[in-house]
Amino acid sequence: MSNNNDTIAAVATASGRGGIGIIRISGPNTKQISEKLLGGQIPARQACFKSFKEQDNTVIDSGLALFFQSPASYTGEDTLELQGHGGPVVLDMLLKRVLALGARLAEPGEFTQRAFLNNKLDLAQAEAVADIIDAGTAAAAISAQRSLQGAFSQHINELQQQLTHLRLYVESAIDFSDEEIDFLAGDELQQIINKLKQAFATLTETAKQGSLLRDGMTVVLAGKPNAGKSSLLNALAKRDTAIVTEVAGTTRDVLREQIQIDGMPVHIIDTAGLRETSDIIEQEGVKRAKQAILAADQVLLVVDDREAGSEEHLTLLKDIPPAIPITIVFNKVDITGAKIEEVKSSDGQTIIKLSAKHGDGLNLLTQHLKELMGFNPEEKNIFLARRRHLDALARSNDFLNDGIEQLLSYQAGEMFAEDLRLAQNALSEITGKMTPDDLLGEIFSSFCIGK
Ligand code: GDP
Repeated sequence: MSNNNDTIAAVATASGRGGIGIIRISGPNTKQISEKLLGGQIPARQACFKSFKEQDNTVIDSGLALFFQSPASYTGEDTLELQGHGGPVVLDMLLKRVLALGARLAEPGEFTQRAFLNNKLDLAQAEAVADIIDAGTAAAAISAQRSLQGAFSQHINELQQQLTHLRLYVESAIDFSDEEIDFLAGDELQQIINKLKQAFATLTETAKQGSLLRDGMTVVLAGKPNAGKSSLLNALAKRDTAIVTEVAGTTRDVLREQIQIDGMPVHIIDTAGLRETSDIIEQEGVKRAKQAILAADQVLLVVDDREAGSEEHLTLLKDIPPAIPITIVFNKVDITGAKIEEVKSSDGQTIIKLSAKHGDGLNLLTQHLKELMGFNPEEKNIFLARRRHLDALARSNDFLNDGIEQLLSYQAGEMFAEDLRLAQNALSEITGKMTPDDLLGEIFSSFCIGK
């Protein structure tokens, strides 16, 4: 990505036609561009109605101009926002003019990257900006907002302080080790360690909930043709996404639908029925079904309850790696008259009996999916987290545990100090203080342009 010496510009509003279109400019040339485009300086933080002009004074558009003086701006640099009409052609003309005046086109996420580099936001907060924009449910948006406000970062900083405290405690204990007092065996050390372990456990649990709100779970519907997979998808989505017919093999491609269960996004994938077929298109569908199954958090094997007695359906899934959990759904109990219930098979597999067509027993299924993921919608104050955060937390926790082992079992104070340092480094990756450049590049490039 760029250095900070140049001035960047981009359309910040979504492409297409809209009431208002915004162009954002940030960097050292902003004032100069503003002067030429608007015909003079404008005061900071005051909306000014202006004409946006070509070099020959032709008016390209007119609207509000807002100037933010460095460092009091989103990026920390001089920033100008031009709020004109939201048409693609007019915005393109305006952007060209701004570029001609000495800005260059911003890369995706570059405004936020500059905010991060200028210490306006830490990395977890910067990611929260993208997560607010990408939020798939209201609960995810609210949690991302909490992360942006710094809730997650604050917990990380508190953990860092506790780690520092432990480090100082042990280092001073080692310094005084000639004396008779055995600091390392004392209650106080144990208390500090217990408190720290508890803090890690609590934060990991909240972050896990946040990550579920962001990424949700992927559920694949599999089973023989006509078992009722498409009907189940429609029932869960509460609309007719998939074609339901009595003709076997209607769903030939993989259909995706996102639903939410108490705010957790659930990506449901309806697959072509798994069966041997000579139809080339359907064969491709079966191949894609098998691929989708490999990427699933959970497979729902849908079986017509009239065939529940036959073990045929179990053989269908013999290709599925054992690591991917399967729930069996016996569907169409309205025909067989079987009870709507959740039971366990003799080998411990969950079986849910329901009727997709009538929507009976769906709540058992949604409850089951929540439990599978450990999702707890009662948990308040969740902040949005990403898998990379969970990963860094887990690594940090592992270093801490290793360190404690070194200390308590082998009295290896120096090894302990080194482990604590590594634990702190892993935590710093979350807030961006110790994040490798290529990872930073990857994070920001997944943003939209103009953010
Ligand atoms: P798929 O091939 O597995 O996707 O199955 P569909 O969802 O297309 O359903 C096949 C047929 O079974 C359709 O005629 C559905 O109306 C019917 N069906 C699906 N679920 C139920 C159910 O719960 N009860 C009854 N009576 N019929 C169902």
